[in-house]
Amino acid sequence: MTVPPPRLRADACPGALQTHAAADGALARVRVPGGALTTAQLLDLAAAARELGDGALELTSRGNVQLRGLGPGADTELADLLSSAGLLPSPAHDRVRNVLASMLSGRTTGGSVDARPWAAAFDAGLWADPSLADLPGRFLATLDDGRGDVAGLGGDVGLFALPSGDVALSLAGADSGVRVPARDAVALALAATRAYRDERAARGGTAWRLAELAGGADAVLTRLERPAGSSPRPLPGPVDGGPVGAVPQLDGRTAVVAAVPFGRLGATTADLLTGLPDLQVTPWRSIAVPDLDPAAATVLTGALRDAGLVLDPADPWLRVTACTGLPGCAKSRADVRADAAAALAAGALPADGARQHWAGCERRCGRPRGEVVDVVATLDGYVVG
Ligand code: SF4
Repeated sequence: MTVPPPRLRADACPGALQTHAAADGALARVRVPGGALTTAQLLDLAAAARELGDGALELTSRGNVQLRGLGPGADTELADLLSSAGLLPSPAHDRVRNVLASMLSGRTTGGSVDARPWAAAFDAGLWADPSLADLPGRFLATLDDGRGDVAGLGGDVGLFALPSGDVALSLAGADSGVRVPARDAVALALAATRAYRDERAARGGTAWRLAELAGGADAVLTRLERPAGSSPRPLPGPVDGGPVGAVPQLDGRTAVVAAVPFGRLGATTADLLTGLPDLQVTPWRSIAVPDLDPAAATVLTGALRDAGLVLDPADPWLRVTACTGLPGCAKSRADVRADAAAALAAGALPADGARQHWAGCERRCGRPRGEVVDVVATLDGYVVG
């Protein structure tokens, strides 16, 4: 008797080309490796949101950007726009370019290397290899310059710069014990990514994350033929969020970091960044605008605050996240974002500083890692716990 192959679940992770049919229209997710965008690219995305979608950009917990409410046929126009903007270098690798890099790396204190070249080189290595287009859309790489901000975000493959100058390879969110000089780090991360791809394929291609794969990190190390030379060390845990407000840079200039409530950045707010330098989208749903002189930083801070963004580290908005809810998700039992905003306005947040995640059902999409109080909609109201 012939044994049929295991039935593979389709990889439903949305991309820029493979959109997701949400209740409020099609949803496209644009990968932004390292969170690095030119302001011109952000403005192109804002224009697309205005003309093709619901008028806002959604920042995701992987530092990517989503457009919602796309109408029938908008995907072709969006793909053309993204290609022209340099945001779709390899259509085949559209969904796998999930790369987080330390916030303001190379510009502010805390790291021992500049992770920006790592992110660019790792991304280029991904889409230069046709076999890596087979990675699942949930693949994640974390490139941490040593400040410990993204190492705890659960990457399948990651780099963590050590004070010694060497770099630790992390696999499935934990230190593998493998160390390499910084100059060899990206090549090692790419080799580990290929080993994960090969091991996953050998085991039927059903695991979405390295942590779900039988053998996991050990199987990758075996394929790499890299014995773990050092005792693995604990990596930093998930952080609550990066800094917000005016952040001093090493070169004397200033970065302005603004958190975006629920990650929804209106196209008109994005327009406020016209003419400014490059920026970084962070996994804490904020945007970091670097390389400003103090006067420009003050002006930008005021403009973004007036537009509803959060620049005060004590602002309670920094403690509240929410899933999509109604009207974007048909599974939701409530408009959780509106309800959470109303609770904030009423001062109903707990005073103990706890973070809250509001969700329209038990799936709790978008729940941050770490200590979080869940506020889940039921048919009888919200359950907190
Ligand atoms: S948690 Fe439930 S309601 Fe919220 S986005 Fe996910 S599936 Fe939809």
